[in-house]
Amino acid sequence: MDIKYDYLIVGTGLFASVFAYHAKKMGKKCLMIDKRSHLGGNIYCEDVDSINVHKYGAHIFHTSNKEVWQFVNSFVEFNRFTNSPLANYKEVLYNLPFNMNTFSKLWGVETPQQAKEKLEEQRQRYAHIETPANLEEQALKLCGDDIYYAFIKEYTEKQWGRSAKELPAFIIKRIPFRFTYDNNYFNDDYQGIPKGGYNKLINGLLEGVEVKLNTNYFDHKAELDKFADTVLFTGRIDELFNYEFGVLEYRSLSFEHERLDIEDFQGNAVVNYNERSVPYTRIIEHKHFEFGNQPFTVITREYPSEFTGKNEPYYPVNDDKNMQIYSKYKEKADLNGKLLLGGRLAQYAYFDMDDTVEAALRLVKKELYNL
Ligand code: UDP
Repeated sequence: MDIKYDYLIVGTGLFASVFAYHAKKMGKKCLMIDKRSHLGGNIYCEDVDSINVHKYGAHIFHTSNKEVWQFVNSFVEFNRFTNSPLANYKEVLYNLPFNMNTFSKLWGVETPQQAKEKLEEQRQRYAHIETPANLEEQALKLCGDDIYYAFIKEYTEKQWGRSAKELPAFIIKRIPFRFTYDNNYFNDDYQGIPKGGYNKLINGLLEGVEVKLNTNYFDHKAELDKFADTVLFTGRIDELFNYEFGVLEYRSLSFEHERLDIEDFQGNAVVNYNERSVPYTRIIEHKHFEFGNQPFTVITREYPSEFTGKNEPYYPVNDDKNMQIYSKYKEKADLNGKLLLGGRLAQYAYFDMDDTVEAALRLVKKELYNL
């Protein structure tokens, strides 16, 4: 390889692809590499007889950032999918997020006023908590006992493999409350799934960009680095620096995909299983993301698991201990004028897709447009 590249981009996920699109548009020469055999990182979908199977977990795009929404829609049109997951607790189905449908099933209340009174009564016991020190305190302060013990504690501890008392409070701030009969999980202005799947978004972004798949950066690092002015790295930051400040913790997942010769398995894209005795956290039925009417279906059971270094890292564990380690890596990276970092792994952040696009567009403005 004797061509000089402006950017070597390690990874072909959403962050990397947004950056590559703009770099190419600016006339920069980019080489992208990915250790996997496909593009797209974790938003990649596998086509199973016309059903787009979210291979690395359900991805539902939602944002209130109009620039981000218009940007992704300029590559592929998004459908009107609205996430309205169900919670299965002890074989009873409840609506999420916590809204009037949930409250009426749980407490027999009918009006928002009754629900608010009931919730207030539940919260009273925890009114003394001023600044929640962990997820459990945060959740009890927000919802009180009934909701916490049915829907949050067991699900959270199963998902994270840790006591809710050891988890940071901010994780639970993601769960919205609503006093209307509205099962829309997100409060954002825009949401949907790309018509035809996420691969269309990635393929659109990467049109005309040179990509080498099945190429592990760490197997060829010295050689690859020589051919690029700047490296954009979107993998694990601790691995990049050979774990010199310690190993960062992640939570992993394993997926059990199953094709069933029935039209509809659960009548909804996402059903959470909130009790601990069920080993998986949710079942995804992929066809519902795109309103499919195939005579068969594909479902995925999602099992949380420990990150071993051999499986995939999905969720950064952003507690104090890990954040301290991360900040050392970040400081070191910032001193390297030829290195850029981006995405969930390199920034060690619990990014949603819109956060990822937003962060990539921020880097684009700074790095490519000097803004
Ligand atoms: N959560 C919960 N019960 C649920 C759904 C979520 O307690 O039925 C908590 C759990 O702690 C989880 C967090 O909310 O880690 C965020 O969940 P969400 O489904 O928004 O995250 P995702 O896994 O889709 O990124």
